[in-house]
Amino acid sequence: MKPPPFDYAVASDLNEAFALLEADEDAKVIAGGQSLIPLLSLRFASPTLLVDISRIRELRAIRCVGETLSIGALARHSDIETDAAVATYAPLLAAAATWVAHPQIRNRGTFGGAIAHSDSAAEFPAVLLAMGATIVTRSSAGERRTAARDFFGSHFQTSLQHGELVTAVEVPGGDAGTRWGFSEFARRKGDYAIGGAAVHARVDASGTCVAASAGLIAAGPGPTPADDLDLELVGRRVTEDDARRAVDRATQGLTPESNVHGSSEFRRAVIGESLRRALHQAFGLPTVDFRRTSA
Ligand SMILES: Cc1cc2nc3c(=O)[nH]c(=O)nc-3n(C[C@H](O)[C@H](O)[C@H](O)COP(=O)(O)OP(=O)(O)OC[C@H]3O[C@@H](n4cnc5c(N)ncnc54)[C@H](O)[C@@H]3O)c2cc1C
Repeated sequence: MKPPPFDYAVASDLNEAFALLEADEDAKVIAGGQSLIPLLSLRFASPTLLVDISRIRELRAIRCVGETLSIGALARHSDIETDAAVATYAPLLAAAATWVAHPQIRNRGTFGGAIAHSDSAAEFPAVLLAMGATIVTRSSAGERRTAARDFFGSHFQTSLQHGELVTAVEVPGGDAGTRWGFSEFARRKGDYAIGGAAVHARVDASGTCVAASAGLIAAGPGPTPADDLDLELVGRRVTEDDARRAVDRATQGLTPESNVHGSSEFRRAVIGESLRRALHQAFGLPTVDFRRTSA
């Protein structure tokens, strides 16, 4: 199918973007276009005007601000994959980026676009939930900072208002006590996940877990935090039994949708196994690599 007709305007700075959006309540932002263009072509969206923000250079920066890593909304997925500061201070994000779609899409798709799109099966929202990130948004009324947990809603909804843009995301920079793990299952590398999990944790000098959280991929109608996972991990030198109990606690109430990839039960098992593997990676427990390298 072809997209419905729309007008198109390029914003050269944030104020121009705000003015264009405020003048038309049916206007929509376009950044990398990797989610929006397919939606238009399927006629799931029919904006009157597309406001292209991809040339607002100030939104592409990735920089350290104190103990925090600030990632601009227009950083491409491929920037997250290759940026030295991301690799050093937020390696979980860099690892997750390699699972997002295919290289061609990662070269166009933007970090802010993936966050605003808020797909339950997307990697970055789950990672931001695990890391306790803050989403920075701006409109002509000023700037807001929202915890990832409060930003993402269900069925592609977020706390964004019309005329408001994601401008950056702040993630806590890791240190020697930071631990992370990421695991995902998809039919083919680059496909959307059938299930997955991102784990972020801290241990003290004795190796005892002092904080742990996780985001689950394709687990519900929106990006899904793994509630109460920490109750089985914090205060312990985490063992395989602790990880197993944490998985049971985090997945017992999940009811992912049945779809062409599997029943709800199957998909809950995939998410649980992904979470177990991510916990094993994070806490240095034995891992099994199930990927076949030869027949
Ligand atoms: C074949 C294919 C496979 C894919 N596989 C995956 C995958 O495995 N995992 C995954 O996570 N994604 C996947 N994607 C989606 C891809 O990652 C998109 O790039 C991303 O979801 C959206 O980024 P974008 O910059 O392209 O946003 P756009 O398509 O330009 O916009 C998406 C939405 O976000 C809004 N928006 C964009 N930027 C902002 C902003 N700064 N502030 C406010 N609103 C904004 C737009 O109005 C629109 O509603 C896939 C896409 C394709 C085509």
